[in-house]
Amino acid sequence: MPELPEVETTRAGIEPHVAGQAVRTVIVRQPQLRWPVSEPLARELPGQVIHGVTRRAKYLLFEADTGHVCLHLGMSGRLRVVPAGTPVAAHDHVDIELANDWVVRYNDARRFGSIFWLTEPPEHFSLLARLGPEPLSADFTGAWLKQQAARRRMAVKAFIMDSAVVVGVGNIYACEALHAAGIHPRRPAQSVSLARYKRLAEAIKTVLARAITVGGTTLRDYIGVDGDTGYFQLSLAAYGREGTLCPRGCGAIRREVIGQRSTFFCPTCQR
Ligand SMILES: [Zn+2]
Repeated sequence: MPELPEVETTRAGIEPHVAGQAVRTVIVRQPQLRWPVSEPLARELPGQVIHGVTRRAKYLLFEADTGHVCLHLGMSGRLRVVPAGTPVAAHDHVDIELANDWVVRYNDARRFGSIFWLTEPPEHFSLLARLGPEPLSADFTGAWLKQQAARRRMAVKAFIMDSAVVVGVGNIYACEALHAAGIHPRRPAQSVSLARYKRLAEAIKTVLARAITVGGTTLRDYIGVDGDTGYFQLSLAAYGREGTLCPRGCGAIRREVIGQRSTFFCPTCQR
């Protein structure tokens, strides 16, 4: 599944090709995604200029004259920029053809993605309205985590993966950040001190920023290239390392299922 760093890398790769370009046509070959592709999109978008591409959580937002295209990659979605006239492949469901003869092409084998045409401000859109802060923004701090954790007994790992608390902390990033901060993933959220939440917020920022940097180098060419979906190849301290020595040298990494997700941690240095 594309995670926040991949979506951000996609955004950065695509934006230079679309910013300032007028839309020539929109072709919807398959409207049945997780939700139907917004019916007005193909009628409203042609003739409008795309001013830029931003991201909120894992949604890409293409800002046009009278609204936004709001796109989520779902489980298997991929967005590429290809020359106009490039033959259509299986699962190429939507094309946004631009005046510069490039096409933004959406491919999604499993069709769990979504494409909405928003005329309201994106932050008012129902799927975006209740999201927590962006992890790499100044709004996301240890103090914010401590405040949100009040009276919450749920495992801290599930807590930081809740998109109402903070967006974009996928399973690998949660495991890695908790290891870096020395916090046991099962610890009740309300019992983590402010000082440790400050360390955790910094660790989340660090692991995500590192993944975006790695993504920028591994997926730098968005033109006509099939990008793999999934987590970028990060060097990991805990995730997927069951039975190997903790990098701090304390003992073996353990795997347990927490909140239905495989969780890797060091029972010695994470408390
Ligand atoms: Zn350890």
